[in-house]
Amino acid sequence: MHVAVLGAGYAGVGAVRELEDRLPEDVDLTLIDERETHLVQHLVHRVVREPDLADELTIPLSELTDRATHRQAHVTGLDPDAGEIEFANSSFSYDVGVLCLGARTAFFGLPGIEEHATPLKRLEHAERIREEFERVPDDGRVFVCGAGLSGIQIAGELAALGRDRETPPAVVLLEQKDRVAPAFPEAFGRAVADELESQGVTVRTGATVTGADGDAVELESGEDLAYDQLLWTGGITGGEAMVGERPSVQSNLRLGERTFAAGDAVSVVDADGERAPASAQTAVRQADVAATNAVRLVDYRQDGSGFEPRYERYRHDSLGWVVSVGDGTVARVGGSVLRGSAARAVKTTVAAGYLGQLGAVESAAAYVREQFDH
Ligand SMILES: Cc1cc2nc3c(=O)[nH]c(=O)nc-3n(C[C@H](O)[C@H](O)[C@H](O)COP(=O)(O)OP(=O)(O)OC[C@H]3O[C@@H](n4cnc5c(N)ncnc54)[C@H](O)[C@@H]3O)c2cc1C
Repeated sequence: MHVAVLGAGYAGVGAVRELEDRLPEDVDLTLIDERETHLVQHLVHRVVREPDLADELTIPLSELTDRATHRQAHVTGLDPDAGEIEFANSSFSYDVGVLCLGARTAFFGLPGIEEHATPLKRLEHAERIREEFERVPDDGRVFVCGAGLSGIQIAGELAALGRDRETPPAVVLLEQKDRVAPAFPEAFGRAVADELESQGVTVRTGATVTGADGDAVELESGEDLAYDQLLWTGGITGGEAMVGERPSVQSNLRLGERTFAAGDAVSVVDADGERAPASAQTAVRQADVAATNAVRLVDYRQDGSGFEPRYERYRHDSLGWVVSVGDGTVARVGGSVLRGSAARAVKTTVAAGYLGQLGAVESAAAYVREQFDH
């Protein structure tokens, strides 16, 4: 029997570690990712201001796994019922799989956006954003399109980076909905908007971007906004292996006969009928449920008799939310919204806690030091 985990982000690493502990010893386990390292993606915006942090945010997969075999390959296709994975020149079959390939930036086919705007998902994007920002003139204009977790945080970083200059460029965050962080609770969104303004970011809500050329970004209202740097953080879509949209799965996280899924790769309707927001926290918690259900399916298939098992269901019960906005931080813990040093302490604890739980103790310590240096 062979179990495969596709993707080594938050969901994939979480699932593989759980499976290492819980699968019977005679079951083979393979972790497939195109990279050799796990990226701590929810801090990738920090690399724009602190390039040295990149090393702390990339952890070799060999340090994170124990019994799983790592196969470094780019997945081009997947049949979740048959248990067939396609690579460019080969394929791979599994008995039970967990899909955790994350998502790609969605450009929604808006003319000129993919060509002229830089997304933010990987370290190479953060490096490109820093280089582009260095070329923005002192009184220039930077537009960040999309005020979700990544847009909010990168706008804050760029405004902070600009403060080192005599005349900082204007950083403007455009959001088509009527508030920032629209997928999150309203009180949190209000506090984030206040923090953005106090960190020097101009927020424009109700601003629907319809396209861009090499000089200006165009709004639905017909307004053309001349830019010196353009970033796109307007949404996510399914990875290449899923061909287009993120598939919708129910709370048992079952994607097909042989496959469960977790994290950004899928859109999950939880046990209360609510759609879970795409986030690192969601991915980690879904990974537990997906791994539990994969173990149950393995047991059932090995046993070869009886009824199909009852699967665990994912219920999205958020522990809270925390974002950095340049040198500021906003946290929602329970019903309270925190800013300032209390919120910063929450962010530092959550991030260092994640790294520490992976065993990346030096990275955790370096991250904490970096927080205190600011
Ligand atoms: C700038 C930024 C800030 C963020 N801030 C926060 C935050 O503050 N809080 C929060 O909770 N979330 C935050 N997020 C969101 C969070 O990072 C994602 O929700 C999370 O990474 C999803 O985890 P995942 O495991 O589903 O996917 P990922 O972490 O994206 O992992 C996917 C893995 O699959 C691999 N892969 C992808 N495609 C292929 C392929 N075709 N073949 C082989 N391998 C492949 C990738 O190499 C990667 O290792 C932020 C995201 C960004 C970009």
